[in-house]
Amino acid sequence: MTDTLPPCPECSSIYTYQVDALLTCPECGHEWSPGAEADDFVVVRDSVGNVLADGDTVTVIKDLKVKGSSSSIKVGTKVRGIRLVDGDHDIDCKVPGIGQMGLKSQFVKKVSE
Ligand SMILES: [Zn+2]
Repeated sequence: MTDTLPPCPECSSIYTYQVDALLTCPECGHEWSPGAEADDFVVVRDSVGNVLADGDTVTVIKDLKVKGSSSSIKVGTKVRGIRLVDGDHDIDCKVPGIGQMGLKSQFVKKVSE
């Protein structure tokens, strides 16, 4: 083991040790799970609550205006190989006939192929 264990979040003691999946502090007795707070994983859901993942195919459920362009994405447009990203538009994808852009997960529905 070359990893240095993080200090105790309660008392900042550096004499922490690992017991199975938990870290334990010998000074205040605090036990915690390492990485629990760092693993800030956000689940992205579509308009009906399906969990979306990278590579999924979705359809657009309403006409969407494309920012800075006169074109729009028509309802029912199928978008393959989405990528989930952080932000207001949480889906990064390539829309057929439009190009690379961001979509909001609340305006799409997952398609099982
Ligand atoms: Zn402690």
